[in-house]
Amino acid sequence: MPQLIDPFDRTISYLRVSVTDRCDFRCVYCMSENMTFLPKKELLTLEELDRMCSVFISQGIRKLRITGGEPLVRRGIMGFFENMSRHLGNGLDELTLTTNGSQLVRYADDLARLGVKRINISLDTLGAQKFKDITRWGDLRKVLDGIKAAKAAGIRVKINMVALKGTNEDELEDVIKWCADEDMDITFIEVMPMGDLGNEDRLDQYWALSDLRERLAKTWTLTDIPENTGGPARYVRLNETNQKVGFITPLTHNFCESCNRVRLTCTGQLFQCLGQEDEADLRKALRDNPDDNGPVIKAIRAAIALKPKGHDFSYDRQKVAGEMSRHMSHTGG
Ligand code: SAM
Ligand code: SF4
Repeated sequence: MPQLIDPFDRTISYLRVSVTDRCDFRCVYCMSENMTFLPKKELLTLEELDRMCSVFISQGIRKLRITGGEPLVRRGIMGFFENMSRHLGNGLDELTLTTNGSQLVRYADDLARLGVKRINISLDTLGAQKFKDITRWGDLRKVLDGIKAAKAAGIRVKINMVALKGTNEDELEDVIKWCADEDMDITFIEVMPMGDLGNEDRLDQYWALSDLRERLAKTWTLTDIPENTGGPARYVRLNETNQKVGFITPLTHNFCESCNRVRLTCTGQLFQCLGQEDEADLRKALRDNPDDNGPVIKAIRAAIALKPKGHDFSYDRQKVAGEMSRHMSHTGG
């Protein structure tokens, strides 16, 4: 079986695919209120996405995460999941997604049927008004019902919570307890400098996870878990609840040395690193060669050969550095 190996000897086995830049929320750290989205013709069709992902799988990708924007608002997305599920056990080990949960009541059973076993659901607060303030357009009730639906369908849920200074700091213990009661793991994420936010200021939002971790240690006994998933998360176990807690700390801990992933956008650009502007246009190779995957494979391999060593994000000296002009919803968080 072919493998994708980058110049720093990292095996790339994990592809994250942003299937749309659109979303039914407007989270304050992710988007500005008035977003301009890509014209539809720029987007890969679901058939093109299928072909692209299938080529990646043929080259050694074993885990596929569907994300966005909000992946479940793309029309026909269940057909895409259905098509991807044919690769499970046949090159692909895991098919999963990251979602805001708003559409899960509708889709949880189908996702489970198609082999999705675990999902990440983003939820930054348990307060209805605060949820509205953070997501601008979201409805907490729908997301909580979505979580219930996913669990009822037998899907394991992990909560992703962005640590937001002055916004959800006061809920830390409550959210952890809620996740423990619901038998869900949780991962905290530091705000990353991606995209222009209009009036919002990133430094105002940034809550360092080193500080969050210290607070956790006042209530629970933390044991480091040496697990390395090749991603940015580091994990601890809370002894009292036997719960796994992850920290995605691109700012306070550089995780690039073990990176195993690349990111495909809905326009067919391949970003080799979340924190660099380098990218490769795979759409051209795909569209120029409708009956031949050879040039697509060549373009993928050439892009992997250029994967940079790491990102340059920093909030040092009270200013944001290494900032990306694109939003997280474009590359897929
Ligand atoms: N809409 C889906 C969701 O919210 O889960 C999937 C896409 S969203 C871009 C993926 C993840 O990125 C979410 O957990 C979100 O909280 C996170 N995210 C978005 N913008 C971010 C930023 N600037 N810094 C850190 N995390 C961010
Ligand atoms: Fe949408 Fe997810 Fe971004 Fe929130 S974080 S605006 S739900 S893409």
